[in-house]
Amino acid sequence: MIRLQNVVKEYKNGVKALNDVNIHIEKGDFVFLVGSSGAGKSTLIKLLMKEIDPDKGKLYLANKDITKVTNRSIPEIRRLIGMVFQDFRLLQNKTVYENIAFAMEIIGQSAKEIRRQVPKVLNLVGLSHKADSFPNQLSGGEQQRVSIARAIVNNPTVLIADEPTGNLDPDTAWEIMNVLKDINRRGTTVLMATHAKDIVDVMQKRVIALSEGKVTRDDRKGVYGYEF
Ligand code: ADP
Ligand code: ADP
Repeated sequence: MIRLQNVVKEYKNGVKALNDVNIHIEKGDFVFLVGSSGAGKSTLIKLLMKEIDPDKGKLYLANKDITKVTNRSIPEIRRLIGMVFQDFRLLQNKTVYENIAFAMEIIGQSAKEIRRQVPKVLNLVGLSHKADSFPNQLSGGEQQRVSIARAIVNNPTVLIADEPTGNLDPDTAWEIMNVLKDINRRGTTVLMATHAKDIVDVMQKRVIALSEGKVTRDDRKGVYGYEF
């Protein structure tokens, strides 16, 4: 599903953000990516999104070699990924329904398909009753549910969540984790970068730890750890 082989990413200032990283994530996995600030987590996500290119090594996504791709095929690769951010990034002038529909419109889905899919994902995240609300009328947890619905509406093979619970109180954070668990159970691979020690320790999922651009741990049923 996701494979990094001997990946090196060095920024122009000489910082090796990733230094010979090898990671293999299977379809259906749920993976926590942990590490202190500056460890290389965002760099790894940006490489998968094709926002940046590696200096060395190989990257594969859904059996496609995405190490070097033409600009023309970047949208196609991004479509394999659903992204969820800490700060939700919803369009404030669109309703919940419209925010999700928009993600389908920009990839050219038909009106019929949009009318079929949007209610489905709204139901999946438990927000059918908020379809006509605007983002600023929702709690933080509800906004994050909308952003998750938007991320999965085009059926990505992997959902990447970058600190999705970072702006939420503990109870709400757990509600979001239950939504992510549910989506994972339905077959979507989940990669979640996080600093939420309590969540990582309770969930007993695979944990990949990065430190100074290197993988320092990769454990099935891992823990957050104390080295950060
Ligand atoms: P994390 O997401 O784990 O906090 P990052 O991937 O953002 O880590 O950063 C890894 C390292 O690369 C850090 O030392 C950071 O300062 C550096 N870095 C990140 N982005 C850039 C950039 N655009 N230019 C130069 N250095 C960068
Ligand atoms: P939280 O304390 O979790 O942030 P809020 O107090 O913001 O939650 O919201 C509680 C409930 O009230 C939510 O269901 C939310 O949708 C609703 N709500 C919050 N602000 C507004 C608003 N401006 N207009 C309509 N409903 C709102």
